[in-house]
Amino acid sequence: MIHVKNLKKSFGSLEVLKDISIDISEGEVVVLLGPSGSGKSTFLRCLNQLEMATSGTIVVDGNHVTSKHTDINKVRENIGMVFQHFNLFPHKTVLQNITHAPIKLKKMTKDEAKDKAMQLLRRVGMESKADVYPSQLSGGQKQRVAIARALAMNPDVMLFDEPTSALDPEMVGEVLAVMQELVADGMTMVVVTHEIGFAREVADRIVFMDGGYIVEQGTPEEIILHPKEDRTIDFLNKVL
Ligand code: ADP
Ligand code: MG
Repeated sequence: MIHVKNLKKSFGSLEVLKDISIDISEGEVVVLLGPSGSGKSTFLRCLNQLEMATSGTIVVDGNHVTSKHTDINKVRENIGMVFQHFNLFPHKTVLQNITHAPIKLKKMTKDEAKDKAMQLLRRVGMESKADVYPSQLSGGQKQRVAIARALAMNPDVMLFDEPTSALDPEMVGEVLAVMQELVADGMTMVVVTHEIGFAREVADRIVFMDGGYIVEQGTPEEIILHPKEDRTIDFLNKVL
């Protein structure tokens, strides 16, 4: 589903991604771990061209993300992204937040988009909030709406960048539960998170990044219980 080869990304003279190669299969759940500043967000953002790769190739679901000839908007429609800070449209209701892109980009009718949005809101346990504005929601509720909004485009891949880091602790569980359901549905997911318990439970593979490189990767058991590299051991000692 995702093929990344020799990806490099610099901001001016700062080389943030130094040489990343990774293949991710359909239905695979990959959790990215690593210290702050190691390039995790930059990597996710390169996958859907929110950042342009400096060199290397990225292919997602057969689309050459890094090629000049690719319509990147079409690629993005197929990749859902959920951020730490929700990024909901403040002046749209919950329902409008979800129907906006399908009406505009998928040319759905308003009724079709609304039906689909209500289905998704039921799925994330938010149907009673369809007509309220984001400011009236808790952080956990906002994040569940953000997930529903990403799903409204029927993506084949979902990217999550620390989706629970900005939440009060009591709201982390409700968001992880929604993500866990996506895993159960077979969604291909790349998740940056410090929730090690979640990673252990749902990840098919854990990738540990540091300094713009993949330092080591393997099953949750291999990486969390039996890490080999000093940098992985150091990191886990800090977060566990
Ligand atoms: P992580 O998500 O692992 O914390 P990031 O990918 O956000 O790491 O950042 C990696 C490095 O790239 C950091 O040093 C950060 O300051 C730098 N960086 C990220 N985005 C930009 C940008 N738009 N311009 C300049 N530097 C950036
Ligand atoms: Mg980050």
